[in-house]
Amino acid sequence: MPELPEVEVFVRCLQPIVGTLIRRAEVLDQRLNLDESKLSEARISSVDRRGKHIVIGLGTAGDLVIHLRMSGRLRLQRSTEETRYTRMILHLDSGERVYFINPRRLGTVILYPKGFNPQLGVEPLSTAFTSEALAQMTARSRSPIKPFLLDQRRIAGIGNIYASEALWRSGISPERASSTLERDEIARLHRSIGSVLNDAIQGQGTTLGHSVSDYHPSVGEQGEFQNRLSVYGRETESCERCGNQIVRIKQGGRSTYYCRECQT
Ligand SMILES: [Zn+2]
Repeated sequence: MPELPEVEVFVRCLQPIVGTLIRRAEVLDQRLNLDESKLSEARISSVDRRGKHIVIGLGTAGDLVIHLRMSGRLRLQRSTEETRYTRMILHLDSGERVYFINPRRLGTVILYPKGFNPQLGVEPLSTAFTSEALAQMTARSRSPIKPFLLDQRRIAGIGNIYASEALWRSGISPERASSTLERDEIARLHRSIGSVLNDAIQGQGTTLGHSVSDYHPSVGEQGEFQNRLSVYGRETESCERCGNQIVRIKQGGRSTYYCRECQT
């Protein structure tokens, strides 16, 4: 499932479309419930990320917001590459096309005519996300720290994979009540969130290459960073820090992976 780093890589790769005009939008999946006419002749003013959302700014036409969910992805290319899973095509005046590919139809594309204004928390890679800001949030929460990190209304963009990884890097148990974290633990967690997200963006970027022509069809599902995860999906393997066995537990219906020995 694409989390912040994967979405960020898509957004960076889509920067060349800023300034182009959507000649025509072709909606191939009626379930998207999207009015093609509202998109045609709209000029793309920006492509940004907010949490796990891709926000394509269309000036007075509003914001076109894509959420990839489980298996959605985007491709940008000149050639015709329609597959049975292609749900939408934006034909740009540059001759390029943006393909929205969505095999399981879980991803969404929504036009917000008045602009996208979601109930999302702080961006973890922004300057607003300080150790102090994190301390203020944890102090008020009795939730265990792992589900705390998944709550998009607090911090936007962190999902199941990077929450587990950040907690392993900071040596904190996912079961700790958020309000019991000490200042030095919060500082470590804050650093770990930044480092794991940045490492993942870099890893995905490596897979993808930096040019649009290298656009990798499977990004968002599998990137190079997949091979560098320390705990996620590594149940019964040895912890690379202490050698103890990694365990999997369930928290709020989601799997959490961690090392009981060095995460306390
Ligand atoms: Zn360990």
